[in-house]
Amino acid sequence: MKDTYRHKGLRRQLIEELAQKGISDQAVLDAMQVLPRHFFLDKAFEEWAYQDKAFPIGNEQTISQPYTVAFQTSLLNVQKRQKVLEIGTGSGYQASILALLGARVYTVERQEALYLRAQQLIAQLKPGNIRCYWRDGYKGLPEFAPFDKILVTAGAPEVPTPLLQQLTMGGQLVIPVGKGAQSMLRITRVSADEYEQEELGQFQFVPFLKGLHRK
Ligand code: SAH
Repeated sequence: MKDTYRHKGLRRQLIEELAQKGISDQAVLDAMQVLPRHFFLDKAFEEWAYQDKAFPIGNEQTISQPYTVAFQTSLLNVQKRQKVLEIGTGSGYQASILALLGARVYTVERQEALYLRAQQLIAQLKPGNIRCYWRDGYKGLPEFAPFDKILVTAGAPEVPTPLLQQLTMGGQLVIPVGKGAQSMLRITRVSADEYEQEELGQFQFVPFLKGLHRK
């Protein structure tokens, strides 16, 4: 895998585009400038890796659009050393961005084939502290809870209760909820049984599905 001057230049243009579209979190933009997105895509899509678009990564799944990655990551407001759970590892790109921001990342994927591929790529690239699990994200990752932040990268029909329960006090869950199109919700745990919810725009994600899928 090579990261050429051309790739870096295309990446710089993409970052400028994201800034123009309203992404202002400099730490997020810097992480996206550092991480070669083309490493996470099939060779066939390498030419398009720096367009602001989602692309297929196999098993009917997609790597999220860069704007969506930047937007969700900005909403999380990740601080160094925070424990962050990602639901929907996919290509491993979003997990790598979180790790570059200094988070201790736990990421779960229901599709075994994607889990294996992402785990291998992450071991090769070493973007930071990331642990990959083949799990059903509806259940979260109770043995490592609580998490400062939880990020769901698939469109959920409803907010899974286990994810709310696995937040620290003051912890935040960012999750797209709805059928067809999804509203981006940011839910803050304000006490043991109280949560505050913000609605932050419309997006379109692949579906959050129940149960494990063997390759
Ligand atoms: N974050 C990814 C994009 C993921 S697309 C990236 O950076 O590339 C959403 C992913 O969520 C898909 O890979 C899909 O298989 C996964 N997913 C859907 N339902 C899930 C569940 N219940 N548990 C874990 N992963 C799930």
